[in-house]
Amino acid sequence: MTLEPAAKPRLLTPGPTEVPEASLLAMARQVTHHRTPEFRSLLAEVTAGLKQVFATNNDVLILTSSGTGAMEAAVVNLVPRGGKALVLESGKFAERWRKICEAFGIQVVRYEVPWGEAFETARIAALLAEHPDTVAVFGTLLETSTGMGHDIEAIGRVVGQTPALLVVDGISGVGAMECRTDAWGIDALVVGSQKALMTPPGLAFLAVSPAAWRQIESIPPQAFYFNLLAYRRALQNSDTPYTPAIPLVKALAESLRTIRATGLETTWARSKTLARATRAGIEALGLRLVAARPADGMTAVYFPEGIDGKAFLDRLLGRFGLKLAGGQGPLTGRIFRIAHMGLVDELDVLSTIAALELVLVEMGQNVKLGTAVTAASQVLAEAH
Ligand SMILES: *Cc1c(COP(=O)(O)O)cnc(C)c1O
Repeated sequence: MTLEPAAKPRLLTPGPTEVPEASLLAMARQVTHHRTPEFRSLLAEVTAGLKQVFATNNDVLILTSSGTGAMEAAVVNLVPRGGKALVLESGKFAERWRKICEAFGIQVVRYEVPWGEAFETARIAALLAEHPDTVAVFGTLLETSTGMGHDIEAIGRVVGQTPALLVVDGISGVGAMECRTDAWGIDALVVGSQKALMTPPGLAFLAVSPAAWRQIESIPPQAFYFNLLAYRRALQNSDTPYTPAIPLVKALAESLRTIRATGLETTWARSKTLARATRAGIEALGLRLVAARPADGMTAVYFPEGIDGKAFLDRLLGRFGLKLAGGQGPLTGRIFRIAHMGLVDELDVLSTIAALELVLVEMGQNVKLGTAVTAASQVLAEAH
């Protein structure tokens, strides 16, 4: 069989994700100016929508950058050069927290566990007792490199008993799994536009608690474009300090309307069901998951023995237009990753599982066609 590019693209990577048609159309219209009553009112709507999706009453800032820009903004605004940070490291994105801290001369205390495994809260408490001058703890809600959903609620309880601030990378997790920013004591939450928020890449968001603001005000600014005090000042007037990515804000407004119409709890419940169905299919195929506590927003799976992972992913793409993600860092060539966030629905899950079965059979694996689809369908039928 020839592997021509399929006519119908199916993007099931954990970012970027597909964008609803209304959001795409919003971007296709003529550019308008941002210092206008119309845009201010749109920005106020978007900010309110983000607060709802982040489950927070804290200030939410909109940055024109990819998610990593907001991670950097959180680091440089909260921790002074020479200050101390505890990084909870168990994957590619948590590693990025450490690298950003190191780039700004911050002393990093590392709590590292193998990729895909959980942190022990008692160990976090012990490290914070040992390092009482820790300014901030950097964690990850959904570690996209492994599909691990970290227990931020439990981590928040431990950090909340110390003076340290809790900073969470929720870039892919927020909107795809439960995240209660205020109730869990998250002082700075970082989110990106191109994952569960169903918006093209280019915007990032930061929810900042009153305690985090006090810390930001107490240290000399180490950034200009990313000086968060400028964003807070502008926010008071429903404005941004610099020209925002106006078409992306319009797209985001549409995507947030979709999420709010569905409801946050329903959105979370939907990803949970899709994740359970996907895992049932994967298990029926005899494949192994990477994460000890798999997240609701995506699933990371080891390739079966004896399969060329790149050929497997290329075949899914060529034969079905189905784009899944491969592995990163030490997991490169060893795993694949399927998103079930944003626009992904039940039929996407079933067709993905069916495509996996077909390609595994075509690549000589001993798989009985239909077994995994049946297992996934059963979960969907029971959840309905
Ligand atoms: C995608 C992602 C990032 C990086 O975001 P960019 O927009 O690529 O800068 C960081 N952390 C997590 C958990 C992610 O999923």
